[in-house]
Amino acid sequence: MSTATLEPKVESPSNKKKCTMQSAVVEEFGKALVLRQWDVPTPGPGQIVVKTEACGVCGTDIHAARGEWPLKPTPPFIPGHEAIGLVSAVGAGVTIVKEGDRVGVPWLHSACGHCEYCLKGWETVCPEAEFSGYTVNGGFAGYVLADPNYVAHIPKGLSAVEAAPLICAGITTYKGLKQTEARPGEWVAISGIGGLGHLAVQYAKAMGLLVAAIDIDNKKLAHAKELGADLIFNAKNVDPAVALKKETAGGAHGVLITAPSLIAFKQGIGMTRKLGTCVLVGLPPGEFPVPLFDVVANCITVRGSFVGTREDMAQTLDFAARGLVKADVELQPLSAINNVFTRLEHGDVAARVVLDFSDNRSAADRREDEDEDCEDIGDD
Ligand code: NAD
Ligand code: ZN
Ligand code: ZN
Repeated sequence: MSTATLEPKVESPSNKKKCTMQSAVVEEFGKALVLRQWDVPTPGPGQIVVKTEACGVCGTDIHAARGEWPLKPTPPFIPGHEAIGLVSAVGAGVTIVKEGDRVGVPWLHSACGHCEYCLKGWETVCPEAEFSGYTVNGGFAGYVLADPNYVAHIPKGLSAVEAAPLICAGITTYKGLKQTEARPGEWVAISGIGGLGHLAVQYAKAMGLLVAAIDIDNKKLAHAKELGADLIFNAKNVDPAVALKKETAGGAHGVLITAPSLIAFKQGIGMTRKLGTCVLVGLPPGEFPVPLFDVVANCITVRGSFVGTREDMAQTLDFAARGLVKADVELQPLSAINNVFTRLEHGDVAARVVLDFSDNRSAADRREDEDEDCEDIGDD
């Protein structure tokens, strides 16, 4: 991962105006985000600008704002990697999208397109990849810069709010479930039924899998049950590995750990059936002990999984467009972001908060009316 590009790669607009937009900015790790004006990006060659309509709030945004992963973003930066919006400006040479198209700006902001991994269709692990809301500014802002080759194309019939959680929580769990290699009729265990997990349950059911849901919160488990989970376990009350093995005569063929909690990872290995695959998706900082004898003697695969490719994205969105999956969304304004972070950290968000930008009138719109967020910067 390159960490070089935090400022949007923009050139000074030559249209005589420099406009600003409302944004939520990480100025310092571990501190509240600062709501402030930020320059609206203008697209360089091969780039686009997207006017944000909605942006989901992911557990990853909290890790980013705390700077708790080994590779850190550089403050000040704008988090957010579930932004959906309309293309508002197109740089020279862009042909894939046009103004007015509805697109998503996902975690995988861009990749090189020609390395070993990109050539294999594994752009998610490209060493040159940039990440929205992390190495480049993200969607907690009125406008966001994007690479048109890596945006999500939102199908007609899906609103911006409906699509937002799908472009990270949705794709990550859909891809993670594929990576478990569990087949229709087999068991998957999903640990952590939050933003990611509530979508994982729905994708798993749509894929014909039997689902065991594990969380430490009964409300999340009740939600999983409503969404079709066949078994639920509260890891506070029972050892989920023991309980699941008993109920499924041997454990889950595939396990997907979304919980941002190290104990859940150790339990996940314990929940995996012989010859099964345990897919690690949650990203709490730290390490966890792997019980070598169990993994070796039971021929268990332990596998990491990181968002998904553009092909996974199209499939992820298609499930929702066909009505098989629907994110459970709570709308909040951008100004509530610090409260949303606090609630998310305390397990106090039912599923996914999506920031609502439907009154997004910053910059260009206001320029026509009041000019309050724009200043003259001359002819060139
Ligand atoms: P969330 O807060 O919405 O959901 C987390 C859920 O885990 C909550 O329901 C919580 O009650 C539950 N939980 C906490 N401790 C648990 C435990 N010990 N056992 C079982 N459940 C437990 O967060 P989210 O947005 O779903 O993100 C979850 C994690 O996934 C974060 O670490 C995030 O960074 C990571 N993530 C990874 C990828 C990837 O590509 N691998 C993509 C997106 C998010
Ligand atoms: Zn995310
Ligand atoms: Zn590459």
